[in-house]
Formats: sequence, structure tokens, C-alpha cells
Amino acid sequence: MGSIVEPYWDSKLPIYEITLSKIQKEGIDCLLIDVDGTLINRKSTRIPKAVKDWIFESKKFFSLYLISNNPSEKRISKIAKDLEIRYKFNALKPRKKVTLEVINELKCDSKNIAIIGDRIFTDIVVGNRCNIKTILVKRLGQDGLPIKLNLTLFMENLITFFIK
Ligand SMILES: [Mg+2]
Repeated sequence: MGSIVEPYWDSKLPIYEITLSKIQKEGIDCLLIDVDGTLINRKSTRIPKAVKDWIFESKKFFSLYLISNNPSEKRISKIAKDLEIRYKFNALKPRKKVTLEVINELKCDSKNIAIIGDRIFTDIVVGNRCNIKTILVKRLGQDGLPIKLNLTLFMENLITFFIK
């Protein structure tokens, strides 16, 4: 058993570079996907084309659900509408409540569910607490490309090192 802050899979890739067959090989059927930083930069409103293409391709293989901590329903519902995916906003990760609601709604065995996100202390911790698989991805910048220096992740890794 790994620690609560340890991702099941640290992809070191932006979401759109993750190979779908690799996720399938893990036995995963359902993907809970974080929004800000994972699909789109927190400050931008346009979803990068590479992300859109990846999402629409992955719909052929997986049930998708967006789970965002962002309190703006306006922002998250617009992104969800563009991608045609169900969503939860203000999800309060790493609290379990909303994530567990989604897990129940999906009717998918927890061993076949993964959460994908760019943060350890929200996405990875909530996934581990809910006993689902966790995939850490690189945070997207405003240009839609992975940012080079992710200070949040740097701090999270530093803290993780000391609490392990
Ligand atoms: Mg995020």
C-alpha cells in the first residue's frame, strides 16, 4: 500500500499525451477528470484542441465525468457543455463526499475507476481516500502546453517528502 499522497501512476505527461490503450490495460472503464490545470489553464476559457481531441477519442472507451473544485458553475458547466460530459463543480476535493457521489452514479466498480488531475493534495489524495486509481498529469499553461515550472506541484512534492 502506497501513501495517501502517492499517485498510482505519475504520468509526467499532459493529459492529451496519455495513451488510451495504456489506461485500458489497467482495467479502467471510468475516468473522473479534474478541470483547471488538467484540461484547460485556470485563466483561460478556450479548451486546447489537443485536449478536445483526446476527450472525444476517450469517450469511445471510457465513461467520463468532470470533477472540479472550482466554485464557478458558470465556468465548469460551459467547459462540460463544450466537451459533452457530466460534471460536478465546487467538489471540495480532497473531501470525499462529492467524489463518492460520482462513483456511485457511475455504477462502475471502484477498481475500474481512475481520477486524473494535476494536483497531489486534491486529486490524488481524494482518489486514494476513495480507493480508486489515481493518475497525475502535467498542468497546462495558457498556451495549452504543459508548464515547465509548476510551483504548486514542487511545494506539494516537498511537503510529501517530509510527511512520508
Ligand atoms: Mg487542477
